[in-house]
Amino acid sequence: MTLKLGCIADDYTGASDLANTLTRAGLRTVQTIGVPSDDLALPQIDAVVVSLKSRSIEASLAVARSREAEKWLRGRGARHVLFKICSTFDSTDKGNIGPVMDALRDDCGEKLVLVTPAFPETGRTVYQGNLFVGSVPLNESPLKDHPLNPMHDSNLVRVLARQSKTRIGLIEFATVTRGVDAVRARVAALAADGFGAAIIDAVFDRDLETIGTVALDHRLSVGASGIGLGLARALVAASGRQNASHADAMAAVGGPAACLAGSCSQATLGQIAKAEAIMPVLHLDPEQAVKGKDEARRALAWAGERLAKGPFLIASSATPDRVAALQARYGRDAAGHAIEEAMADIAEGLVQAGVRRLVVAGGETSGAVVDRLRIPGFLVGDEIAAGVPVLRAVGTKEGAMLLALKSGNFGGPEFFADALRLMR
Ligand code: ADP
Repeated sequence: MTLKLGCIADDYTGASDLANTLTRAGLRTVQTIGVPSDDLALPQIDAVVVSLKSRSIEASLAVARSREAEKWLRGRGARHVLFKICSTFDSTDKGNIGPVMDALRDDCGEKLVLVTPAFPETGRTVYQGNLFVGSVPLNESPLKDHPLNPMHDSNLVRVLARQSKTRIGLIEFATVTRGVDAVRARVAALAADGFGAAIIDAVFDRDLETIGTVALDHRLSVGASGIGLGLARALVAASGRQNASHADAMAAVGGPAACLAGSCSQATLGQIAKAEAIMPVLHLDPEQAVKGKDEARRALAWAGERLAKGPFLIASSATPDRVAALQARYGRDAAGHAIEEAMADIAEGLVQAGVRRLVVAGGETSGAVVDRLRIPGFLVGDEIAAGVPVLRAVGTKEGAMLLALKSGNFGGPEFFADALRLMR
């Protein structure tokens, strides 16, 4: 198998978003958790998104991990690699966008890299090199107060120049609107003048397609899911293929199904209430879950009696006042972490008992579950709700397994039923 596209994402949720975007655009895509082992067996696919947690770590570490990911992707035949960053260009003067870009560019011998975080359908546009978040420049958006990387400059040419060892150019909207040949000419001119990267403007979706087409002439690009969409559309157009089927991802696995909820969001609380009407629901005692392992054992005993009879839901979720009370007693992080661990214990026990279809509500909760189950990666399938696809685990010792992992606020009121309907 030769990959058409390799991607390195600097955080996990960004990777999921990109993998979903590529899939919707017609590329069969696997998202891996970290750099995979050399012997990871993959189905027939077009793209791999390697998820790293490198956005806010020390720059030298981010470079080392990204290089390792690039080596793996190139080894699987990826000619083009996208370094996926946040659409709000989250970074500091120390990095990590510039240092990682410089290292990957040196590794692949490319002269100039196209860079754009634009994703017009989510309100991220770039004009004259300035990033807009909705209707305001980046430095007037809530990102100016971000705890880890406050963004005080909306001019990305300047922002990236402070992070990179090379000169940073600009490819203006006027050039982008003139199309692929005009952009190609500008890229060649900037490369000849010694620029190592260029911020490229994009205001409309069609700009992303122009950028994607030109980027594919090269070995590396940097951007958010928007440029991913442009690359995917250019690749699909070049292959002359209709949208890929998700049949491989969606093939039935059978066996017992279970749902876990650790999110305390309004949306998830409503979804749990709806689930009560159609399946048994166990509400964990959150205080007991913080205190020790007995609560998870109790939940697994409860589940064991129901496994053969149909799906069920185990929830730690509670209303804001009860969450606040627990946090006041044990501390916010300690309480959250202990409950995530309890959920991971339960997920592990359920899989040992034969569960092969697992729906998880809550971003951190999902992360804890996936880590515990040591799932190397996922093939992305059909969407249950916007932004929440069915995932088929790849490379697990347990064999075929389907998961749905959702952030608290995602999905409609019947989310659990909607998920189970697709996960056969
Ligand atoms: P979301 O996607 O809604 O943010 P997460 O799973 O990311 O959901 O975060 C929810 C956090 O709340 C987790 O750390 C989880 O362990 C914690 N949590 C779950 N139930 C409770 C509870 N009853 N009291 C306090 N914290 C809880």
